[in-house]
Amino acid sequence: MNRINILDDLTINKIAAGEVVERPSSVVKELVENSIDAGSTKVIVEIIDGGKKLIRITDNGCGIASSEVDKSFLRHATSKIEKIDDLYDLYSLGFRGEALASISAVSKLEMITKTKEESIGTKVIVEGGKIISKEPVGCSNGTTIIIKDIFFNTPARQKFLKSNHAETINISDLINKLAIGNPNIQFKYINNNKPMLNTPGDNRLISAIRSIYGKDVCENLVKLKYKSDNFEIKGYVGDNNVYRSNKNLQHIYINNRFVKSKIILDAINEAYKGIIPINKHAVCFLDIKINPGSIDVNIHPTKLEVKFENEKEVYIELRDLIRRTLLNNHLIGKYEASD
Ligand code: ADP
Ligand code: MG
Repeated sequence: MNRINILDDLTINKIAAGEVVERPSSVVKELVENSIDAGSTKVIVEIIDGGKKLIRITDNGCGIASSEVDKSFLRHATSKIEKIDDLYDLYSLGFRGEALASISAVSKLEMITKTKEESIGTKVIVEGGKIISKEPVGCSNGTTIIIKDIFFNTPARQKFLKSNHAETINISDLINKLAIGNPNIQFKYINNNKPMLNTPGDNRLISAIRSIYGKDVCENLVKLKYKSDNFEIKGYVGDNNVYRSNKNLQHIYINNRFVKSKIILDAINEAYKGIIPINKHAVCFLDIKINPGSIDVNIHPTKLEVKFENEKEVYIELRDLIRRTLLNNHLIGKYEASD
């Protein structure tokens, strides 16, 4: 028998980083979600070489006080919950306190941050999980985080990164989802110094959809608004002129979190039977608000999945709602169910 070792924190963080940080887009996701949780109204995402060389996220949110900065890089350090019961009343995207610890364990990170109460900001440099320097710096309110050389100290992971092009597509897709899920925030996205996206942040879902997918998609959407004991839902569903051969234009948000929910996708598919061709996918942008106590978002560290307490009810109600909306717009019967 070999001796049993107790792993040190740096090693623990590097191992655990594998769950949260799979590729550059996971870094962007975690950092932008932090910017959203910080109450930002403007978020700038810049990447170079698919995020492998550089990711810079700038926000105008609440910032982190100098005295708290070191703590933010510790595992299980979060300002968003205190106890497990808080999960049943959770409106923030983060809560696990893992992202900064994980990201900083596998990259070279620089953070510049200032709260509105402070007159001077803080700049910290963290490499491979170790704080290298911390000093005061003049800056505006909010937080900028720069990630360089992702996986520089975990070569096995670096090998699994895809081409710059493929990693960029992942990030662009993610920014689209975050921007549509947060129409109140102005999103700027810059890829290799080229501006790619600039949403108005005017709090109108349709504006965000238009700046990303253009007017052709917008012209073929039907508005949806509904409230019941189970959930409240706002958004748009595509009519029978707009459908896709993939699911890229199916945006589902639950309490502002982009999710992949099989139950919801099944409800949508069922509602569109006979309205769009059988092998095509509907277009939909659904903003669902549900009592946080009746869902579980803590299924996986990436928090993409959710579990509903009353799955069957949600499925039937949503399917019938979409079907009814389409019917009311005379969008039935263009395709035979077997088309
Ligand atoms: P979580 O988001 O689960 O709380 P993170 O590791 O992502 O954990 O972040 C740790 C803490 O650092 C957050 O709880 C928050 O207090 C602070 N923080 C991180 N990013 C920002 C930001 N952009 N603006 C303000 N505070 C931030
Ligand atoms: Mg977070």
